[in-house]
Amino acid sequence: MRIGTGIDVHALVYNRPLVLGGVRIDSPMGLEGHSDADVLTHALMDALLSAARLPDIGELFPEDDDAYEGADSLELLKLVRRMVAEAGFAIGDVDLALCAQTPKVSPYKERIRATLAGALDVPVASVGLKATTFEHLGFVGRGEGILAMAACILCDSLGGGEGR
Ligand code: MG
Repeated sequence: MRIGTGIDVHALVYNRPLVLGGVRIDSPMGLEGHSDADVLTHALMDALLSAARLPDIGELFPEDDDAYEGADSLELLKLVRRMVAEAGFAIGDVDLALCAQTPKVSPYKERIRATLAGALDVPVASVGLKATTFEHLGFVGRGEGILAMAACILCDSLGGGEGR
């Protein structure tokens, strides 16, 4: 087994859509970024890549590469899923934490879990998600940005795996 963690932060700004875990969230503000700035999916991709000991998303999908301008992070997640499979790993479990003072994410939680499970081709039960505020403390608490953390377990699908 391998364990991976990922973390990401994006700033909240006006005139941007808010996409979290591939789901469009009703909000007057969205996340700033080169791609769709889906902070939750970005943290998840880095957890998966790290567990597979592959390069991180900053290396794989550079911000200065126009190919990823406005990129759909869910499509990048599917690409990461294939890379992880090609490296010889099956996704055992993923768990996500979303830290946002605003907007309220709880009405979207089940849709986000289902969307990410679909992209990863795992059962919904294999995708955990919790959301929390920061009690008005720090940049998250002031509503200046959203922070996401992810953890995952990969299982060696080939057996052995020594030295990978
Ligand atoms: Mg990001």
